[in-house]
Amino acid sequence: MKRTKISEIFKHPERIELGSQISVKGWVRTKRGNNTISFIALNDGSIVHNIQIVAENQKFDEKLIKNITTGASLHVIGRLVESQGKGQAFEIQADSIEVYGTANPETYPLQKKGHSMEFLREIAHLRPRTNYFGCILRLRHAMAYAIHKYFNDNGFYYMHTPLITGSDAEGAGAMFAVTTLDLQNVPKTPEGKVNYEEDFFGKPTFLTVSGQLEGELGALALGAIYTFGPTFRAENSNTPRHLAEFWMIEPEVAFYDIHDNMDLAEDFVKYLINYALENNEDDLRFLNDTFDKELLDRLHFVVKNDFVRITYTEAIGILLKAEKKFEFPVKWGVDLQAEHERYLVEIHFKKPVILTDYPKDIKAFYMKQNEDGKTVRAMDVLFPKIGEIIGGSQREESYDLLLQRIKELEISEETLWWYLETRKYGTVPHAGFGLGFERLLLFITGMTNIRDVIPFPRTPQNAEF
Ligand code: ATP
Ligand code: MN
Repeated sequence: MKRTKISEIFKHPERIELGSQISVKGWVRTKRGNNTISFIALNDGSIVHNIQIVAENQKFDEKLIKNITTGASLHVIGRLVESQGKGQAFEIQADSIEVYGTANPETYPLQKKGHSMEFLREIAHLRPRTNYFGCILRLRHAMAYAIHKYFNDNGFYYMHTPLITGSDAEGAGAMFAVTTLDLQNVPKTPEGKVNYEEDFFGKPTFLTVSGQLEGELGALALGAIYTFGPTFRAENSNTPRHLAEFWMIEPEVAFYDIHDNMDLAEDFVKYLINYALENNEDDLRFLNDTFDKELLDRLHFVVKNDFVRITYTEAIGILLKAEKKFEFPVKWGVDLQAEHERYLVEIHFKKPVILTDYPKDIKAFYMKQNEDGKTVRAMDVLFPKIGEIIGGSQREESYDLLLQRIKELEISEETLWWYLETRKYGTVPHAGFGLGFERLLLFITGMTNIRDVIPFPRTPQNAEF
């Protein structure tokens, strides 16, 4: 008999004739009952809901019934009927049950309900079996799919940029080195430096912190591209919003200025939130009811309202007048901290905010320089509860200005010669941004720690699973 997914029963009960036999497979969430009858809540991961299995104990081997404990995996064949009990519309009256794998109740870590998120992080190999992580992983999938759909429907091409890069000048954070050299016995040059000629690529290489520079090469040929891949930052910052390995979406568009870029960013994230609201109602409802009672309101609020657009300089003015005492003092020129970003979004405007025109000294070399000589055409999108979710800019398209900036910052021209050539041959205005996939998921799921929206988080001192 073909297996029926539990999601089918909940989403399309009309497709199953009541009283007919179906086959379901999954993991036991709970078993209750008495000597004569057992009620088994079975979940197969296709949906947050469990199907209730009703088993008359006398029909089955005593040992089999005993083996049905939380975490065990089952194959059940039975008749789908309307439920007598409260809390569910349907249940399955079991005719046959096979236990694929038992789960010793003495040792199975998910025996009880209500584990803390911290504890679940220590059992990352099993936490996908909890309701929370089921919801989060289904939403993660849905968002990945919606991202590709959005760009495909809007004429963007998916570009694969390299994960191993030869340039350490991507300007977005500390990098992990990639090497096959024997660290116990590093080959040296006569001057006593590491001899990278003997390394795999014949030069120092790193894991990428961003696909942008290569993405720009694509945009300057195909018009509009996006990347969607893992990025790596060796920042030793143990915060609830930084990972050492995270996924980033980076659209890059030729002939776009910063305003087009802001329009794209706003339309894109609203599309993604709407997609989740329309396609993952059960998951969002569960997270809303059990984890964050304001989640659905917040999602609806963001899609309904225009984002505020102001300059960094205006934002500093607001922060200086704020009554709140900040841990990090505010003055023109400082990089904004999460506390500042959240003040603007949550207290002052009570809406997502796009800040533009940051001081050039706190932004990357490739951003378009404004005529004031002090600021660049950067744009950061700030969200409630998270702070920065997107960072982007119009790019400097002038060869001379770009080269001048590279020299000022003492970035190695030689490693970036290919990037500079795009400004030498057929340069055009263009812009793009990076959306942190896990920051988006923090917003979509209501989770408060970024370690809880990726299956296997990589953070300082932590790469167990
Ligand atoms: P932050 O100031 O929050 O560290 P950033 O300025 O370093 O961010 P960008 O270099 O602009 O970030 O990267 C683009 C986006 O990637 C950010 O807006 C954010 O959503 C995401 N991002 C950056 N660093 C991390 C990280 N370590 N972990 C997860 N997401 C990140
Ligand atoms: Mn950073």
